[in-house]
Parts: sequence; C-alpha cells; structure tokens
Amino acid sequence: MKKERLVILGGGESGVGTALLGKDKGYDVFVSDKGEIKEKYKKVLIHNEIDWEEKIHTESKILNANLVMKSPGIPDKVVLVKQIRKAGISIVSEIEFASKFTNATLVGITGSNGKTTTASLTHHILEQQLNVGLAGNIGDSFANQLLESDYENYVLEISSFQLDDIVDFKPNIAIITNITPDHLDRYDYEFENYIASKFRIIKNQTKEDYLIYDADDVVIVNHLKKYPVESTLLPFSLTKVIENGAYLDDDNIKITIDNSQIIMSTKNLTLEGRHNVKNAMAASTVAHLLRIRKQTIRESLENFQAVEHRLENVLKINKVQYINDSKATNVNATYYALESMDAPTVWIVGGVDKSNDYQELFSFVNEKVKAIICLGVDNEKLIETFGSMVGVIVETQFMSEAVKIAYKVADAGDSVLLSPACASFDLFENYEDRGRQFKNAIRKL
Ligand code: ADP
Repeated sequence: MKKERLVILGGGESGVGTALLGKDKGYDVFVSDKGEIKEKYKKVLIHNEIDWEEKIHTESKILNANLVMKSPGIPDKVVLVKQIRKAGISIVSEIEFASKFTNATLVGITGSNGKTTTASLTHHILEQQLNVGLAGNIGDSFANQLLESDYENYVLEISSFQLDDIVDFKPNIAIITNITPDHLDRYDYEFENYIASKFRIIKNQTKEDYLIYDADDVVIVNHLKKYPVESTLLPFSLTKVIENGAYLDDDNIKITIDNSQIIMSTKNLTLEGRHNVKNAMAASTVAHLLRIRKQTIRESLENFQAVEHRLENVLKINKVQYINDSKATNVNATYYALESMDAPTVWIVGGVDKSNDYQELFSFVNEKVKAIICLGVDNEKLIETFGSMVGVIVETQFMSEAVKIAYKVADAGDSVLLSPACASFDLFENYEDRGRQFKNAIRKL
C-alpha cells in the first residue's frame, strides 16, 4: 500500500518533532523550510533519513501531500499555505498531529501571559506524584516527547498559533491564564480573532473536561457569556468568592472542587507578585483535580524556583536587588512586574514597541519608579510618555551601559528591574539573549 504523504512546513522544533513521529508512524515524510534549517535539526533529519529542503518550497513536492503540518511561525496569508488549502489538503498543527497518537491525560495551557510559568509550576507539582511530561511551546515538542517517552500525563504549553490549526485536539484540562492584545498582526489586527483563537483550546471539550480560567479577566468572562461552552468551568479569582474553583481569602488560596477543599497560605509562595498567585491557583487547581495530595501541593508551591527571565532575582549588590524580567515583552507582563515591586525601582524598558498603550503603568511609575533607562533603537515614545513622571530618564543602546547607569543611580534598598514591555529584536537575538546579557553585565559590576 502506498504510504500517506506528510509534508511539514518549517524545520524547527515542532517541525522536526513531527517529522520523526510521522516517520515512526509510517508516513512518507518531507520537510520544507523557506529559511535555513538549524544545523542541529538538519543532522537529525539526515540521521533519520528524512527527505528535506531549505531556502525554497518546491510546490510539486508539497502539493502532493495527504496531510500538511504547518509550524506555528508560518502565517496563514503565505501564498503556499493558501495554495495547499485550495488544493483541499488538510493543514494541522503539531499539537493536533501528535495528540492522535496518545491516550495520556492532557493538560493544555494557553493565554497571553503566564503560560510558561503556569505550565512549569503545574508540571512541578504533578511530577511529585504522577508520571508526567512537559512539552509544547516549552522545551521539547510534544511530538518528539511522545516518541521518546511514554508518560501517562502531559502538561502542554500551547500558543495561539498552535491552536489555529487544531481539529480534534481535546485537552482533559485546559487553562486560559488571561487574554490581552498580543500578536495582532497575525489576526488581521482584530482582537476578536485572537480571543477566538485562544478559545479553540476548548473547542472539542465536553462536560467531562475542565476549563480553568481567570474570572477577573473581563475579556474571558465576556466571551464565556457570549458563547456558552460545554466544558465544566473552574474559575479562579483574586477579587471574588468562587464556590467551585479557586479564590483568595485574605492570605489564603482556597480551592474547592466538588466539596473537596484545599487551603494554602500565599505567604510561603516562592514566586512573587499577584500574577503569580493567579498562576499558583491555576496550577494547584489542576493538581487538586488530578488528586495530588494537599500537603504535596503546598510543599511544591513553597519550593518551586522562578523560571529564568521571569521576575528572576539575579543578584543583590550593595543592597540593591537586580531582577531579570526580560520575558516581559508586552505591557501586561510589565504591569505585574511593576505591581510586585516593593522598593524604589530603577526600570530598564524598551525595544520593539508593539503599538503599546502605556497608560495602565502610569500609577506604578509615579509611585515606585525613580529612574528610567530606555534600552532600544528608538526610544522616543518612551521618553515622550514617561519623561515628565520621573527624575531621571536616559537612553542607551547597550545592555552593559544600561546596567552601569542603573548601578550609579540606584541607592541601597532600591531594585533594578529589567522589564522591557517590548520585543527584543532591535538590539538582541531574542528575549533570552537580552536576559542573559543583563545577567552577565550585572556579574561584571
Ligand atoms: P508566556 O509563556 O505566556 O509568555 P511567561 O510565564 O513566560 O508567559 O511570562 C511572561 C511574562 O509575563 C513574564 O514577564 C512574567 O513575569 C509575566 N507573567 C507571568 N504570569 C503572568 C500572569 N498570570 N499575568 C500577567 N503576566 C504574567
């Protein structure tokens, strides 16, 4: 019998993972990337005798596919993608493809901010008692993990791009951390399209499945009012009492599911900031659902270490705390960083502005920020917006210089916070590079 042909667009982590899984499952696999494929992925393809091309898409080798897996980075408006659809070939995402080959319990986590933190924390709690993998947008692709290990449970971090091409994917437990405008260029600049994309995570859920979500997020709540869903809802909230789900009662997180309650103090959480109380609520709700012992959940929240580049305490020098929040690539993430500052703050901000509206930061800046260091190619908007709010505002194009200035301006008891609210691509390779340069510069002080 002729093998089904699986064409994979994009030779990155999810593309190569899908290629390997596809080959293992008996597909005739072809990987095509318009750009250059990284050396390490090329080696894997060659080693596994998988046919591939780079810097070109050869239509004749693509339009004969039975199934196409499109990597999340490739937008729908690309001509080739349109041609594939026109030819009636189904296009799926890696998550969709991979999920067909497992019966494991799936926890799918999406949202504008907090995915990685919540996914890592959830995994950390679950792994104390369960056999569980962590995959998706974080580390290894889901496809690759399925091939290499045999977990009974998976925690999957899923971006909206990965949700765009799902058909039957159905997580047993879904989390939507929050929804704020981001990546709108991929959604015809329509916030509604982006919201709909996030909600695709529960598209196939029934009442046996759960949706855990932030009940303080008006975007989510309004969407749920407008489009009722089948999933069993488990909201979490910092501001109101929740009967089935999680809420904050003074300093205690209370989670109730079907009359079973767990109470945990927020005082011992290792992660700082109100946003992380939400992340802890979401992760613990999953753990409670999956019957992790209460004491284990409490202990896990007390010993979980912050994920790199997310409000990460770097060093204390001359009684000044340096904090790396390089992953804050939008205003909402920076909002929570500034909110969690309890000392006068020297704030390093800037990069590629995504039509940012900085207004929601004004009260924190007035109250807590003593100096601003703008670190971007174009800092005009920042200087215009914040110039009159702080005593000191300077600009630079070098991380080493930004850190040296911060060192000079900060007094004992202050904090220096890198939380850019912008993408990093003007001066850095990516947010990891930005965070690492920040940490290196601090260590050199
Ligand atoms: P994602 O994977 O969705 O990008 P991360 O966990 O990597 O999320 O965090 C991205 C940024 O958002 C960091 O600056 C982090 O401190 C901040 N953040 C984390 N959780 C939340 C949340 N629940 N709401 C808003 N911001 C958050």
